[in-house]
Amino acid sequence: MAIDTGTPGFSSSTSILSMASKGVFGALSALRRAFSTFMSSKKLAPSPAPAIAPENSFGTAGPLLTNDSVQTADPLDRVLAGNKNYKQKTTSSDPQFFPTLAKGQAPEILWIGCADSRVPETTVCDCKPGDLFVHRNVANILHADDINSLSVIDYAVGVLKVKKIMVCGHTKCGGAIASLSDNDLGETLNKWVAPLRAIRKEHQAELDALEDEDARAVLLAELNVKACLETLKKNSTVISAMEERGLTLHGAIYDLGEGELRML
Ligand SMILES: [Zn+2]
Repeated sequence: MAIDTGTPGFSSSTSILSMASKGVFGALSALRRAFSTFMSSKKLAPSPAPAIAPENSFGTAGPLLTNDSVQTADPLDRVLAGNKNYKQKTTSSDPQFFPTLAKGQAPEILWIGCADSRVPETTVCDCKPGDLFVHRNVANILHADDINSLSVIDYAVGVLKVKKIMVCGHTKCGGAIASLSDNDLGETLNKWVAPLRAIRKEHQAELDALEDEDARAVLLAELNVKACLETLKKNSTVISAMEERGLTLHGAIYDLGEGELRML
């Protein structure tokens, strides 16, 4: 598989990249500002009554959100029509947007987050394509021997030279909720969430002190983010970048019921 290494130097004038070069807190401050601006300025259109997804092994999956702008029954048709809309709107407001993107990428942040459909990092942080290099998996777990996350980290840190790594968990995380017990999730998922369950057992008393399951899941998500940061600190590529060029590591929780990012 060929990997496009991109051409360093791309920067959108309104992106966090340009803002990031100005402040001591760099890209992370820009990300916070962009997110704050997004939250204060975004006018959300009223949503239709959501359909409720069925319960599964990860608990209540929650409502299925629909794309307000494209009304069609088939989800694939909706996505394809949405892409046409996106291309048209973006090109009309900035004809050079896609040609510039095609020249290469120089994201300053590696975002490691959950695969949950309700936490699309570029959207909730009001960023643009090219701003964030991303790795997402179920419950944002970093297995020390996972070639997938390791290759993303190697590429983002070693080749793209990101300045910050942001690990982001979130509220209502199905993986965290499922890891509050040892209920059987099947061979693959049992293996995947094992590190999260190990963290739960390590902090059982602290978790048991919380009566509400949501609160326990949030605490477990926070503990997992901190564990991920510790795992990153043992990664040789990360260690070199921290020592040689000041790469920094950060943790956060996204409250999807509030649309708010909270730094840990
Ligand atoms: Zn999640």
